[in-house]
Amino acid sequence: MNLDKLVKTYRVEAGKGFKLKDYDPADTAHWRSKEHAEQALQQGIERMAELQDKLYAQDHWALLLIFQAMDAAGKDGAIKHVMSGVNPQGCQVYSFKAPSERELQHDFLWRTTCDLPERGHIGIFNRSYYEEVLVVRVHPEILENENLSPSLCGKNIWQERFEDIQAFERHMWRNGTVIRKFFLHLSKKEQKKRFLDRLDEPGKNWKFSAADIRERDYWDDYQSAYEDMIRNTASKHAPWYVVPADNKWFSRLVVAEVIIHTLESLNLAYPKVEDDKRKELESAKKSLLKK
Ligand code: ATP
Ligand code: MG
Repeated sequence: MNLDKLVKTYRVEAGKGFKLKDYDPADTAHWRSKEHAEQALQQGIERMAELQDKLYAQDHWALLLIFQAMDAAGKDGAIKHVMSGVNPQGCQVYSFKAPSERELQHDFLWRTTCDLPERGHIGIFNRSYYEEVLVVRVHPEILENENLSPSLCGKNIWQERFEDIQAFERHMWRNGTVIRKFFLHLSKKEQKKRFLDRLDEPGKNWKFSAADIRERDYWDDYQSAYEDMIRNTASKHAPWYVVPADNKWFSRLVVAEVIIHTLESLNLAYPKVEDDKRKELESAKKSLLKK
């Protein structure tokens, strides 16, 4: 399977009829060997660095990468590995935790809007406004604490939030921000294994959080919230990628290939040097050589 096909396999552009159970978290496509995939990832990272350089120089497009997943699905590791080769000057990562008092005084898209990437840059959201249709939906008491008038919290609230997110993402697209959304799809069994590793291995103890274990009790609620979210917010200009996450080496490869594929679709190029500018460069070189 070529890498283009790999990207297409996990892409959801039209959510109607989307079912999470059609996607296997343990899938590795035709990739049987971790070493082979890691080699391809390394090559991908080099390609990404070249493309990012052009994105920055051209200064037309911004790329926003959104990562959502259950705990221990490997968001942090995927971000770290995939972005290891890019120039930090053109790339920012933002992690969104439970909102502050100040953030709760605003609409649900406000806080992430402040951190959108500028043209020429790559912005990474480690969690995002999508938490507002995930954790907030699974735990209705969070919604009650968002300071909204009860008249605005009717039974259509999730549908309304989906519509607002769609409209927002279309607006961003029309203004030059390309959005790609990753759901790292982990199985419940693999999550248990990773939590046990965090308890057993001293080097991983710091990652353990009792709250993560409590959230596991809501597994099915989260899965249906994710499914409904993808169904209602996948679009051609801001697709979701349902990335199999039981094998970290595979999920990292898929994420990297999606980013490369996206950047390649933008026809990036260094700005053209006009005749006047070229003359200026030539005369600067001449005078420098004389000194
Ligand atoms: P780590 O990998 O370090 O555990 P994390 O992203 O899980 O990273 P945590 O501090 O463990 O970070 O968790 C952040 C928590 O904030 C999550 O439980 C998430 O659901 C919650 N959160 C994020 N956005 C919102 C929101 N808008 N409303 C309520 N809770 C939110
Ligand atoms: Mg956590």
